[in-house]
Amino acid sequence: MVHIVGAGPGDPELITVKGRRYLEEADVVIYAGSLVNPALLAVCREDAVIHNSAKMTLDEVIAVIEEAEAAGKMTVRLHTGDPAIYGAIQEQMDAMAKKGIAYDVVPGVSSFLAAAAALRQEYTLPGISQTVIITRQPGRTPVPEREQLRALAAHQSTMCIFLSITMLETVVAELIAGGYAEDTPIAIVQKASWPEQKIVRGTLATIVAKVEGAQIDRTAMIVVSHCLGADYELSRLYAPEFSHMFRKASR
Ligand code: SAH
Repeated sequence: MVHIVGAGPGDPELITVKGRRYLEEADVVIYAGSLVNPALLAVCREDAVIHNSAKMTLDEVIAVIEEAEAAGKMTVRLHTGDPAIYGAIQEQMDAMAKKGIAYDVVPGVSSFLAAAAALRQEYTLPGISQTVIITRQPGRTPVPEREQLRALAAHQSTMCIFLSITMLETVVAELIAGGYAEDTPIAIVQKASWPEQKIVRGTLATIVAKVEGAQIDRTAMIVVSHCLGADYELSRLYAPEFSHMFRKASR
């Protein structure tokens, strides 16, 4: 059996209880070494065989899994954040399905949510934005034309932009070209939930210069949102005059 497990954003306590249990029990662990905090591996058995997939091809990963399966062993495939977001797990799942290898997926805390926690920010403020867009700037992986930042910017929703910090200037230019005003708030969270977590806040006009001074260069989330520092309407959920399934209106 193979368990694809979301490791969470970095803090070893931000893995699910189930994910941690599988890690503790695993015979074989293949972890995404470029992003998964190695501190998570401290709970693995002493005799567990641990592979860093940063140095492996898809075929090599599948070969390790196949070998473990043939020996009746349990494998954990550990991915950063939640495996469904830029995790490249579909190709791994499809390869396993083809070979008749049983697997399941344990979700994890994605870094865009760890970034919200670091910023102490709700992404969905009434009257400001009720939508969160998860996207990226094209890199070696292309992004469909209809999903270019410039096009998505038209919605003025909260946007969490992955994998793009090294292209921040282009990101800002695209957002402005798509209709965001230059004074729109933006925040960068580098290594959210890690001990070395860093936050830089600014506006579309100021952020590029600010980030240069702060030496932000890797593993960072870009959050663009009118929610950051906005005056907003109170939510209906806790409003005294608003009834819902669990509470009657008091006025
Ligand atoms: N599956 C992961 C994302 C993998 S793509 C998830 O759900 O979070 C890698 C990108 O995720 C990085 O380029 C960065 O944009 C973001 N990222 C991952 N961990 C992060 C962290 N701790 N803090 C900020 N951004 C992070």
